[in-house]
Amino acid sequence: MTSPSQAGQQYVGVELCASSARAALVSPTGEVAARSEAVFSSDDLAAQIARLVAELRDAAPASVAAIGVGVPGLVSPQTGRVIISTDLPAVVRGDLRAEIEKAVGIPVKLDNDANAGALGEQTVGAGRGSRNMFYVTLGTGIGGAIILDGKLWRGASGFAGEFGHITIDPEGIECVCGNVGCLETVASAPNIVRRTHERLMRDSTSSLSRLGLNKNFTAADIAHEARGGDDFAAMMIARTGRYIGTAIAAVINLLNTELVVLGGGVMDAGALILDPIIEEARRRSFQPNFESTQIVAATLGPDAVPIGAALLARDAAQIGI
Ligand SMILES: [Zn+2]
Repeated sequence: MTSPSQAGQQYVGVELCASSARAALVSPTGEVAARSEAVFSSDDLAAQIARLVAELRDAAPASVAAIGVGVPGLVSPQTGRVIISTDLPAVVRGDLRAEIEKAVGIPVKLDNDANAGALGEQTVGAGRGSRNMFYVTLGTGIGGAIILDGKLWRGASGFAGEFGHITIDPEGIECVCGNVGCLETVASAPNIVRRTHERLMRDSTSSLSRLGLNKNFTAADIAHEARGGDDFAAMMIARTGRYIGTAIAAVINLLNTELVVLGGGVMDAGALILDPIIEEARRRSFQPNFESTQIVAATLGPDAVPIGAALLARDAAQIGI
């Protein structure tokens, strides 16, 4: 609910990535009024975020009531401090929330990026109207977030939803989290590239793949070639989908949510990845659970985290935390 005194107020949502940040000026109901983006260095993040906020205010003059920041890592809801971030280790050392507040002069709320993305999709994206939803973001890393009874489920200490670190291959490779064979070690964008390189080296069916022509290909290139009819690239995307679907089956069995929303750059492969995800989830989950769950692609693209972070800032400002 928005009180009359807040009617003109806006919120800024920021998504922090390993080497870039994206920000949006967002209305209290989740509409984006302006966007800004910048390549980041890891020192003095607060000053760089303050510049992004200033750019947004110049582009669409507005009274900004609070700022939300989605961080790739574990954020303590009690202290607002980042506990672990393998993508952005610099944010663990300082008190980023306090530093941004000092630089910008308005309240700041920090949260896990997947939590923010989930809230964005649930409010104005693919999860609109859903009360029980599981959200996955597949990119450089893999994040997850749980919405139960309309609210984010944070768990005992605020770190629930670490979907990327479910073990998918007990004899797999070591993960950044210290475990072996996490979903992230096979299905994150850099690991799709790693697996594809390995397979190109040893698989004779790869000899016709256009991917062999360019040594520095990305996960987006693999998806692009797959869409263009490259069978080898399509096989790598489909195998990735089956890994993800295996983990989704466990979630469906565990939570029985009505909706699973899949976002992040890896989902740009479209049906080539979504179909094998759904098929594998169907194959490996309990049938009544699968039949009561819809598995869909996210719809907000890169706006999901900034919108959700802004809404988390709105909620924190309204209840005074
Ligand atoms: Zn892991």
